[in-house]
Amino acid sequence: MVASERISGEYDLAIVGGGIVGLATAVRMLARDDRTRLVVLEAEADVGRHQSGHNSGVLHSGVYYRPGSLKATTCRTGKAMMEAFCAEHGVPTDICGKVVVATSAGELEALDRIEGRAVANGVECERIDSDRLRALEPAVAGIAALHVPVTGIVDYRQVCFAMRAVIERAGGRVITRARVDRIQLANDELRIGFGHGELRAARMVNCAGLHSDRILRLAGGSPSAKIIPFRGEYYDLVPSSHSLCRNLIYPVPDPAFPFLGVHFTRMIGGGVECGPNAVLALAREGYRWRDLSPRDLAETLAFGGFRKLAWRHWRMGWGEVWRSASKAAFVTALQRLIPAIRASDLQPGRSGVRAQAVSPAGDLIDDFVIDRTPHAIHVLNAPSPAATASLAIGEHVVDQLGQCQDDTDYD
Ligand SMILES: Cc1cc2nc3c(=O)[nH]c(=O)nc-3n(C[C@H](O)[C@H](O)[C@H](O)COP(=O)(O)OP(=O)(O)OC[C@H]3O[C@@H](n4cnc5c(N)ncnc54)[C@H](O)[C@@H]3O)c2cc1C
Repeated sequence: MVASERISGEYDLAIVGGGIVGLATAVRMLARDDRTRLVVLEAEADVGRHQSGHNSGVLHSGVYYRPGSLKATTCRTGKAMMEAFCAEHGVPTDICGKVVVATSAGELEALDRIEGRAVANGVECERIDSDRLRALEPAVAGIAALHVPVTGIVDYRQVCFAMRAVIERAGGRVITRARVDRIQLANDELRIGFGHGELRAARMVNCAGLHSDRILRLAGGSPSAKIIPFRGEYYDLVPSSHSLCRNLIYPVPDPAFPFLGVHFTRMIGGGVECGPNAVLALAREGYRWRDLSPRDLAETLAFGGFRKLAWRHWRMGWGEVWRSASKAAFVTALQRLIPAIRASDLQPGRSGVRAQAVSPAGDLIDDFVIDRTPHAIHVLNAPSPAATASLAIGEHVVDQLGQCQDDTDYD
């Protein structure tokens, strides 16, 4: 169903955004009550075109996240739900395990902290020495590592297609090429407009990813944070060098920065990706340097939170830009984990743009953020591991919709 036809209608629930979080929310809603008149409105020609189709494809186990945070709880339960969903709907997964590698004595304390978090989050893992590490990943130079056997890989784009099929079989509608551009609350219902189309819905869930703050604003709210797009660029190992990485190899992350550092990821469809870095994207869908939106860039630069963040992390920021411009610098970063890697082992790969909420104080908001306006719930910040956690996030959102029958408590 596309929005070129004039579309109208009346729904119990409209979900804005056909990425994995919006689709998973629809799946969970229909699982709870299949009489729900539900519609998903997606701006693009198909589902899963942005973050959900441009990620590393890792089924995260929940090692890194602050115990008790929404990330920690939904990642664990969401991963189990995702594995069950994939098994039921024929989407291949591979629980291949990963290693988080300390390459110097200076990283051992941080590795201890990660291990402590993994244990607190109930994630199966084991501290291993360099011999065990070499047996698992012969090309990696590390003095110690955390082995997490329960981490896996999947193709989240395929998951999105499977979710769309489940929604449509259960009577839900997915309308593509429907970019929501107006939302009005009138007579106790929302009028949601997209180009020539308009429909009415009793409730709305905003899962618009890179545009979640704008949808929140259209719904009359004032977002507590702004979405800043950060591009992650990858190289691929050339086929003759695939043996350098057997599964998933990560560095010990910098606690000041939520991105996980350049790593090696075996993809479920074949091949190994190396990266990503993290550079400011010049458009919300800025997959290349030449993708520039004057509106998006002007909004980013005018936002005080971004300027504070840039001031605080300018050194790291320039390092990331340098790695984007210089393959040699990218190779040097990768050599920390695999010293034998050479520029000739790498060919340019894909990129993805992360929707990262930044507070007015200039902090990268780490946890998932869910906000409300009358008759609506907004998934404002859903960065990694939100693909893994999507079904649990959906469940959480559906709970919140159920708890708030009386919308007066949204105000
Ligand atoms: C480089 C990278 C690597 C990652 N690796 C992993 C990983 O390995 N594992 C993991 O769990 N997570 C990973 N993530 C995070 C994960 O991909 C995201 O958290 C997740 O896909 C977010 O899903 P979403 O549905 O919120 O957003 P999206 O997939 O971006 O979906 C939002 C949708 O809303 C639509 N939309 C926007 N505005 C409108 C509008 N006005 N009207 C209608 N529709 C609209 C968009 O077109 C889009 O389809 C990674 C992310 C990136 C960028």
